[in-house]
Amino acid sequence: MLGLMSDQQLLISSLIEHSGKYHGQTEIVDCDNDGKIYKTNYSDTLVRVKKLANSLKNLNVNLGDTIGTLAWSNLRHLELYYGVSGIGAICHTINPRLFKEQIIYIINDAKNKLLFVDLDFFDLVVEISNEINTVEHIVVLGKKEDIPNKKNISKKVIAYEDLIENVNALNEWPIFSEKTASSLCYTSGTTGNPKGVLYSHRSTLIHTIAAANPDSFNLSSLDVIMPIAPMFHANAWGIPYVATMIGAKLVLPGRHLDGKSIYNLLEREKVTFTAAVPTIWLMLFQFLETEKKKLNHLKSCAIGGSACPKVMIENFAEKHDVNVIHAWGMTETSPLGTVNRPLNKHKEFTKEQKYELATKQGRPVYGVDIKIKDDERNDLPRDGKTAGNLWVKGPWICKGYMNIIESDVHTKDGWFLTGDVANIDEDGYMQITDRVKDVIKSGGEWISTIEIENITVAHPKVKEAAVIGVKHKKWDERPLLLVVKSEEVSKEEVYEFLADKIAKWWMPDDILFLNELPHTATGKIRKVDLKTKYLNYLIN
Ligand code: AMP
Repeated sequence: MLGLMSDQQLLISSLIEHSGKYHGQTEIVDCDNDGKIYKTNYSDTLVRVKKLANSLKNLNVNLGDTIGTLAWSNLRHLELYYGVSGIGAICHTINPRLFKEQIIYIINDAKNKLLFVDLDFFDLVVEISNEINTVEHIVVLGKKEDIPNKKNISKKVIAYEDLIENVNALNEWPIFSEKTASSLCYTSGTTGNPKGVLYSHRSTLIHTIAAANPDSFNLSSLDVIMPIAPMFHANAWGIPYVATMIGAKLVLPGRHLDGKSIYNLLEREKVTFTAAVPTIWLMLFQFLETEKKKLNHLKSCAIGGSACPKVMIENFAEKHDVNVIHAWGMTETSPLGTVNRPLNKHKEFTKEQKYELATKQGRPVYGVDIKIKDDERNDLPRDGKTAGNLWVKGPWICKGYMNIIESDVHTKDGWFLTGDVANIDEDGYMQITDRVKDVIKSGGEWISTIEIENITVAHPKVKEAAVIGVKHKKWDERPLLLVVKSEEVSKEEVYEFLADKIAKWWMPDDILFLNELPHTATGKIRKVDLKTKYLNYLIN
């Protein structure tokens, strides 16, 4: 017997419809390329989104068409999130920091029909316009007068504001199956071609509800939310959807993500919640230290994308009274997988114990399940020590990649092999020890690069650190520590600092000081480059 409750489909259009109707006057703050601030609200945004939806229909965009975006986190990008998905097309956010060849590959693989681009990326699009055959028109996110006159572009170029001007707002959102694809994001895999992760309306809505929960990001309409994780990286971790659902004031930071710009926005807009990778916070802390500034409004901050070192959690709490929410996820997991929240029994913990616990990547939010297995796919114990391949499952976890029929990382019963190595303790707290490809196997035993890095960056004169496995005659592989200093520090001082904190056989064979470390398009340390460069360092 079926239940007698409404079959109303879970559609993304319902989010903006709700906030437009019930949180209409709540502000949305947009920063343009010059750092100028423009303020609007959910009610006016809903009208613009509905105009966009009609304009897309006028351009013959249909259910299932993919629409590419190359844009920073800004208002027009937000409008595309809702206008494109709202009519059943797929909002394909492309990471503009990828190599040109990858961007061409991604646009072609996804068969983008239209491409919406920020002015910053217009030159790039002009350059590749002959190689992106499915794209019919380029829409520049701005006004006609902003667009430079480029003669050598083979596509029609339209200004976004022209596109939506003089168009009636859509009357009613179309209704279709909640399983319809809604948005698309390619993983920036370091080997092979990027792979498309195709979200659905259903997965996005359930993920949005889960992300707002008290044991996840704990957000409500009283918050002021600023996603710093870019809108082209796993939908800014789903945060724009959360803000819209709960009708919270939303601050979109645009392209300037340096310490000073971020600080100014956090303070001026009284932001209470934000989210980003650790590299962003390194820049902010550097600014705060040199300028002797304090964060006065921020209450909590989600950190993920790479492991959050304990020293960062301490700094936020002790110096700025900000609670760090350490979370783990992937493009393939929408991205929320686990969130680190204390349990009732941790109330009595000392500060030190609390910070220690917070360095773990957290427990699965409701809907997600995790497990660890060995290479032969045998289950491993949840003892907080044994490390194995991390698997994940849930209604917002991908079950395959776009245009790839056979996948060896997805099982028929819904589990996904993440490529991360982790341990899980008795309470379900998961701790990432490495990416499979970064793991160091020294004499057959695993060494966690993340753990050594986290300890190293706690040294007050160290800004950033990376550990890589390099070839060794006797032990196959040994750790090499690469350090970026914040102040003058010697190799001996770093060794001394590590001495009582890690096992002797984990001690890096050498320490090199570099001016900077290479980063990926999503702000992670690009270890493949370092490995290629230093692989034979110990055997030459
Ligand atoms: P992406 O798909 O680009 O978001 O990258 C996902 C990968 O980032 C994961 O598979 C992890 O290797 C890494 N990652 C994400 N969050 C964390 C975290 N909190 N700690 C350590 N690694 C993380």
